[in-house]
Amino acid sequence: MAVIDESGQAYDHPLYTTLLHVPGLSVAVASLDQLLTWGAKNALYIFPMATSCCGIEFMATAAARVDIDRIGSIVRATPRQADVMVIAGTITVKMAPKVKRLWDQMPEPKWAIAMGSCAISGDFYRDLYPTVPGIDTILPVDVYVPGCPPDPTALMHGMLRLQEKIAAKQAGTWRAPEVRPETEKMHGPAVRRIDDPERDPAISAEQSRQAGLHSFDAPEGELDWRGAEPVPVQAAVDFNTLLAERFGIEDFPADNAPIVPRDRHLELAQTLKAMDYSLLIYAVATHYPKPEGDTFEVAYGLRNPSMGGKLAQWRVILQSGESIASLASVFAAADWQEREQYDLVGVAFDNHPDLRRIMLPEDWQGHPLRRDYAADTACRPWR
Ligand code: SF4
Repeated sequence: MAVIDESGQAYDHPLYTTLLHVPGLSVAVASLDQLLTWGAKNALYIFPMATSCCGIEFMATAAARVDIDRIGSIVRATPRQADVMVIAGTITVKMAPKVKRLWDQMPEPKWAIAMGSCAISGDFYRDLYPTVPGIDTILPVDVYVPGCPPDPTALMHGMLRLQEKIAAKQAGTWRAPEVRPETEKMHGPAVRRIDDPERDPAISAEQSRQAGLHSFDAPEGELDWRGAEPVPVQAAVDFNTLLAERFGIEDFPADNAPIVPRDRHLELAQTLKAMDYSLLIYAVATHYPKPEGDTFEVAYGLRNPSMGGKLAQWRVILQSGESIASLASVFAAADWQEREQYDLVGVAFDNHPDLRRIMLPEDWQGHPLRRDYAADTACRPWR
């Protein structure tokens, strides 16, 4: 007896054929096969790839109303013991190699469910530079569960469809692949889908190569979180008074933070820390393209918990090519916030302990929050 898979191709094995000619064995094998199929489809361990709002619906599927346990499915936090990956949420190009690696770590036979329109197509974000326009550009999807978000019953229905597919496959009966939900307005992704016969094999090879890369390596050397000694001040004074008396700044716009000279910004931060402005609330850079040369504005905000949460905010203006002193030696929280501005806007921070990208892949070209950056910039091989 030949077994037929979804491609319509039959496959056979001499041992299998021989065994089937042993009297009575075919009945036993058929019964055993049915038993194993029953066991396989009623013990589907799920690996959750829940990245955003669809993940909440996914979690609700395990709660009492739907109770996914009733079909023997439990969620496992390790790919090595999972049968089905449920991708519930948006996948970004930075996550993509990790998702692919986790998928590769799942043992065969394995299955994938794309839950929600973000996982299926990238949804609203599909034309944006960080988003994978459909998880089936990375791995083969068995069941699509459309919706934004699909509710827990829809996911349960998807699991039941997967059970039917597994049973059909084990029995060697033909079953049409799930139809991928499309809309007329939706254009195809730049990276062809995994089941597209015209997909370039080099894309798959490059995805596998990048999925195997180790990207969690700690930076060289130890990070020193002790910070600089605060600059002592005589007494806590009002922020504007401090700026006027010590820094000679008297221009306080009514609708914006005062501008502090680039070479005194670190001193100001140290002074404020000594005045108990101990929480770094934000560090945000903005790009202003200009014909005579781009400028950047870097804004910082501190909070003083002991003064009723009083805020101290200031801005530093940088010309193209200029850098700014990092505040990571004063506030540990500046480390990641400044890295984010470096990554997305391209502002360089002097003496930062670990200035490298934090949100985008290391080899990303350009800085997406610059105003002249094309929103739909491609990123091979993930989008
Ligand atoms: S499909 Fe909708 S609910 Fe699901 S992750 Fe995307 S935006 Fe959120």
